[in-house]
Amino acid sequence: MIVVMKPGCTAEHVARVEALLSSMGAESCVLDRACGKVVEVLAANGHVDREALAAAEMVDRVLDRAEPFLVADNSSSQSGGSTREVPLGSQASIGGRRLGVIAGPCSVESERHLLEIAAAVKEAGASGLRGGAFKPRTSPYSFQGLGEPGLEMLARAREETGLAIVTEVMRCEHVELVARYADVLQVGSRNMHHTHLLAACGRQSKPVLLKRAWCATLEEFLLAAEYVVAEGNPNVMLCERGIRTHETYVRNTLALAVVPEIKRRSTLPVVVDPSHGTGVSHLVAPMSNAALACGADGLLIEVHQCPQKAWSDGEQSLSLDQFSALMEGLQPFADACQREL
Ligand code: PEP
Ligand code: MN
Repeated sequence: MIVVMKPGCTAEHVARVEALLSSMGAESCVLDRACGKVVEVLAANGHVDREALAAAEMVDRVLDRAEPFLVADNSSSQSGGSTREVPLGSQASIGGRRLGVIAGPCSVESERHLLEIAAAVKEAGASGLRGGAFKPRTSPYSFQGLGEPGLEMLARAREETGLAIVTEVMRCEHVELVARYADVLQVGSRNMHHTHLLAACGRQSKPVLLKRAWCATLEEFLLAAEYVVAEGNPNVMLCERGIRTHETYVRNTLALAVVPEIKRRSTLPVVVDPSHGTGVSHLVAPMSNAALACGADGLLIEVHQCPQKAWSDGEQSLSLDQFSALMEGLQPFADACQREL
């Protein structure tokens, strides 16, 4: 059970809740978050009187479990269930009527290569440019990204095209550096459970694109987002990028049912990544259509001018022409869903 205190409560209010719990035979601990104070009931010998706790001064609510209550944002879902509109740079957003398409290479390889892709995806209608400068690779012998020079190239691409930059941060000590260049910080699948990194992203102001760990349940995914929001940053977009199953014809199984389920449980916008979600380029367009049809607010798509020569994830990358065909093919789905592209 957790007792959520109202903003502005004093140490005395919290102490009274602790004393009340103690009188009920329960041990508790106080957690101080940017969003406010929370008292967790650690162990109870007897009956904990919920009503008495809820009635205590400056108690906001009493919840049965340590659940993602900020991400659920019940107050605004009661007032119409609207999706939060998270900025995607200064010109676009994810979660509004207009679909946000973020496209680009898996890894930043060189300035020339990046600028060519950026110009093409912009022309095709993307509003964000993706590209990793810090790459989480399965093998330590694979290309790990260009680091800060890669971030500089991304910033150049933004200058030239106006596209918002989405790029991954892997380490707490890099959050400030990456936030200096990026419009949106990506926390990758491998780091969804890295609670210190999530909290560090919550303490800065750039929006966060949080990818679901391939082994995570929806509950764990939402609680990971809660780590960011609880530190004071409400601008999180949740990215479904496929989960690991017994299946072998795809790299991951794109679990699209999660899209409407996230919409039901939270107000955060949802981005679907059909590139990592399938791992094969010919499945990227149909799964993009399907993502839009089931309510996704945005897409994250890997694009390369020569996928066979990409330094990472070439098998799932679209060529520039394939990407522009995908954007055209999305239009009837966007129309049917009353979304703009
Ligand atoms: C990526 O977007 O390039 C990436 C590494 O994705 P994921 O974290 O989903 O594997
Ligand atoms: Mn990739």
